[in-house]
Amino acid sequence: MIPLVKPYIADRKEMMPAIEDILYSGYIAEGEAVYKFEREFGEFIGNPNVLVVQSGTAALHIALLLLGVGPGDEVISTPMTAEPTNTTIAITGAKVVWADVDPATGLLDPASVREKITERTKAIMLVHYAGMVCNMDEFNKLSQETGIPIIEDTAHALGSRYNGKMIGSNSRFTCFSFQAIKQMTTVDGGAIAFSNPDDIAEARKLRWFGLDKKLPRLENDIKRAGYKYGMNNVTATIGSVQLAHTPEVLDKYISNGKFYDNALKNVPGVTTIDYYPHTEPSYWLYTMKVERRDDFIKMMEENGITASPLHHRSDTHSVFAESRCELPNMEKWYSEFVHIPCGWWVDEEVREKIVSAIKKGW
Ligand SMILES: *Cc1c(COP(=O)(O)O)cnc(C)c1O
Repeated sequence: MIPLVKPYIADRKEMMPAIEDILYSGYIAEGEAVYKFEREFGEFIGNPNVLVVQSGTAALHIALLLLGVGPGDEVISTPMTAEPTNTTIAITGAKVVWADVDPATGLLDPASVREKITERTKAIMLVHYAGMVCNMDEFNKLSQETGIPIIEDTAHALGSRYNGKMIGSNSRFTCFSFQAIKQMTTVDGGAIAFSNPDDIAEARKLRWFGLDKKLPRLENDIKRAGYKYGMNNVTATIGSVQLAHTPEVLDKYISNGKFYDNALKNVPGVTTIDYYPHTEPSYWLYTMKVERRDDFIKMMEENGITASPLHHRSDTHSVFAESRCELPNMEKWYSEFVHIPCGWWVDEEVREKIVSAIKKGW
């Protein structure tokens, strides 16, 4: 079966000596290798104001804490995502308020978000689901008008662009994940990019128990308890090796995505997605809508190709029972969308095979 997700790991001839060197270097905790990877990642996304952390979940949690989100507050979010987007809001004690999606893309609908704003709204959580970029022209306007900050969960969207620039400097916080199945993995890891460099010092303390690493331990005084959310030198070394290959890996996702956009445009039973103005997806998963989805998935399976909606809508979990509300466009989207393989392991022959299977019908 051709899978939907698969970790890209740089060649062992390059990776193994780097891991061996750092493992036996005598310093495997957070150190120079972490700060080097941090600088390299900042250069890659075009924003030097970046901190690397243990996971994308840690990145989201720190962003929420920096906004002071806690019990009694509300954060507007989407059910169309992986669980950590919303479980991190829940662990702060704040209430998740669901907004509806645009039925054409599955991404949050700015008009619905606007309707859900109350005086308790502390943040808007945007997810660039499957690598597609939210309607940022509208969301930026909304954030400027209301003063409510945006957190971009870009776990699916490394390399996606808005106004020609890689996602990572538009909103106050942009949270990345380097978890095993993302476009770039460090096995586990994440990063937060900041639009306001003033946020970095506090975030850096929250990542390390609340301690200021620049001061000697005996001179430190924790004023706000933090977490053990830092990255270590081993993971960061893996990250540096991986990052050197990330441009070519991302190019494969993007080239396959564009190929499908063209090849599937007028195929009966398929609706391809029109991306928002000034946005360019990085196609972590290729997303489209199909008629009779169960039959489609079965046909693909018979051809040795995985097709799946992959994600379970978040609002149906019991932990979010008090937030439940009607989301008619989400219902519609959720019954129609599907992903097909699009990543670096899909070569030209495989993508042709996938398109011709779909063109034969189901
Ligand atoms: C993977 C993921 C995260 C969290 O990432 P981890 O690094 O696994 O903690 C957050 N949001 C979304 C949408 C994700 O897919």
